[in-house]
Amino acid sequence: MSSEVRTRFAPSPTGYLHVGGARTAFFNWLFARKHQGKLILRIEDTDKKRNTEEAYQVIYNGLTWLGLDWDEGPHVGGNFGPYFQSERNSLYESYLSQLEKVGMVYEDEGAIRFRSPRKTVVVEDMVCGRIVFDMSNPVTHPDMTIRRPDGTWIFHFVNVVDDIEMKITHVIRGEDHLSNTPKHVELYQALDIACPHFAHIPLILNHEGKKMSKRDGGASVTSYSGYVPEAVLNYLSLLGWSPGGNREVLDLMEIRELFDIKSINRRNAIFDLDKCFWINGQHILRMSLERFADLALPFIDKAGIVYDSREQVLPILAIVKEKIKLLRDVPEWISYFFTEEFTFDPTSVEKTFKKPGALDHLKSLRQAYATLETWNLQNLENKLKETAAQNGCKTGDLIHPARVAASGRSIGPSLYHMLEVLGKERVLARFEKAYHQFTL
Ligand code: GLU
Repeated sequence: MSSEVRTRFAPSPTGYLHVGGARTAFFNWLFARKHQGKLILRIEDTDKKRNTEEAYQVIYNGLTWLGLDWDEGPHVGGNFGPYFQSERNSLYESYLSQLEKVGMVYEDEGAIRFRSPRKTVVVEDMVCGRIVFDMSNPVTHPDMTIRRPDGTWIFHFVNVVDDIEMKITHVIRGEDHLSNTPKHVELYQALDIACPHFAHIPLILNHEGKKMSKRDGGASVTSYSGYVPEAVLNYLSLLGWSPGGNREVLDLMEIRELFDIKSINRRNAIFDLDKCFWINGQHILRMSLERFADLALPFIDKAGIVYDSREQVLPILAIVKEKIKLLRDVPEWISYFFTEEFTFDPTSVEKTFKKPGALDHLKSLRQAYATLETWNLQNLENKLKETAAQNGCKTGDLIHPARVAASGRSIGPSLYHMLEVLGKERVLARFEKAYHQFTL
């Protein structure tokens, strides 16, 4: 046997990629990368009725979006294909005849069953430790079916045959498969083949402590539009694993560096979309402006915002970046930089312009700003403070109307940054327009 580490992700094409599946794929990917091994993608599509091209696509797209590449499997090929169980029938037949030869299977009402040796099976799991399964009782552990009367195969058998044929060295999968493992070990033993290493990773539960279902928010990888893939990976890595030292926000390089299968804990992980959201904001905060632009521009385009060039958008993105938690919020945060037709938020108008004297303050600020020769942060700030002193008002009495006049809303990037980026001409025109529009 070669010493190369070979892991696999073996999803069934159910039509969606569950976060639990994505995490399993990620841990297999990490383990393979850590050991200069290979990650194999195998599609477990024995259940023909449910398999559609879209269901395969969901898996490829989800993994690709996350940045998890596979070394063998659909699209990339490899020496151990085909990588679809539906195309491996003759192989399963040949393994079945091996079991027939050694008398380990029998027919029962048209189905083929495996004859359990009814012994104790010991699994040395890399995460769960040594587990002893007593298989002696046929009531609690009936002989498993290998093939149904209609000729279709049962998961356990084809899963084991493929792991053998694909030379898988490490089976890393969800703990829901732990109870299947003794059955798999029985098959390896009947075929006289050494078992791979097993690592069963903790389940992901929802807030109610139940297994995450499709209906739980964040259960499907496709629902992460607006999230940054490396942030989602970061969050997934924390479901069952911890780098230690209270560290939570990690980039992929750091996770690759620190990940160790032995430090996966046994406790079930509780899925927390708010935490994922927070981690997303942290990643946006830390990423370069160029990376942020790469990720944000598709959302800006989709929102129909018209701009001249990336260079025009960059300074705008630079000043809102720290405020953004989700990429899909970017258009909402920046739309008013690109049009004079932006709308005024009624609550902001009510709160700000309806305050006695607010529009006079705005007018005086406009006059003061009109005298500025150099339109930069420092001058904008100094001039505003100077005007407040002259008016005998607080700086806030100028800041709030200025912000609403320039952007239509009370929330946004730092005012001086916003005004600097908008430029003198547009700011003065917007102040003027708001003054007239909201003066009764
Ligand atoms: N197709 C199985 C699943 O999606 C794979 C189990 C395994 O990794 O062995 O649960």
